[in-house]
Amino acid sequence: MNEKELERYGRHILLPQIDYEGQKKLMNAHVMIIGLGGLGSPASIYLASSGIGKLTLCDFDQVELSNLQRQIVHREHSLSSNKAHSAKKTLSEINAEIDFQVIDQKLTEDELSQYLQQQKVDVVLDCSDNFKTRYAINRACNQNKVPLVSGSAIKFEGQLMVFDFKDQDSPCYECVFPDNNTENELRCADHGILAPVVGIIGTMQSLEAIKLILNLSPLNSKLLIFDGMVNEWKTIHFKQDKECKICANAKNSSS
Ligand SMILES: [Zn+2]
Repeated sequence: MNEKELERYGRHILLPQIDYEGQKKLMNAHVMIIGLGGLGSPASIYLASSGIGKLTLCDFDQVELSNLQRQIVHREHSLSSNKAHSAKKTLSEINAEIDFQVIDQKLTEDELSQYLQQQKVDVVLDCSDNFKTRYAINRACNQNKVPLVSGSAIKFEGQLMVFDFKDQDSPCYECVFPDNNTENELRCADHGILAPVVGIIGTMQSLEAIKLILNLSPLNSKLLIFDGMVNEWKTIHFKQDKECKICANAKNSSS
């Protein structure tokens, strides 16, 4: 680390749980953020400012006026531009030392899986807004043993989960929310979302990503539910579902 880096990350280095070695780990880490919306905005801002060496920003969508209420990484001048490029622009102004990779198209599950393998991704943040994408990300991460931090939020409520797939007994997203092929998901576009609620969940995702990189007891096997109306968290413990096909597949392919 050079003098500038020591100064920039001094408050991290002061923490005995991080120290010089921990900050070096963060600077050598690669985090992939899928979705640069309400969750991905605060998550990417904190990961860039914290000095994560490589950030892959993945979003095929464009910035719209209705996004600016909560998607704080975007700016008015970025309206109609791609969200991943728009995020890179803001994040580069916060920390120009980060290696930003932009994926501005929709990835198939196979393409995501290949990317995780080839690019040595340390942690994936699922900041997407629909079940189809969440299931695909869960399968790709489980198959490649890449830890996943999943977040979601609607109205006044948010959810957070960490799946450390390096532990073969870890549950996966489908163990908690089995894929029943139902289309009845709630969407922010229909039901609304209070801006700071996505901010809280996205920020928590960045916190858990950093802890995963540093091996600081992540929240594996727990579902955290946040109620923004009364400002309370509920914790539900989960185990791997023995009937879960995704977990069974991941185990078979590794043995
Ligand atoms: Zn599972």
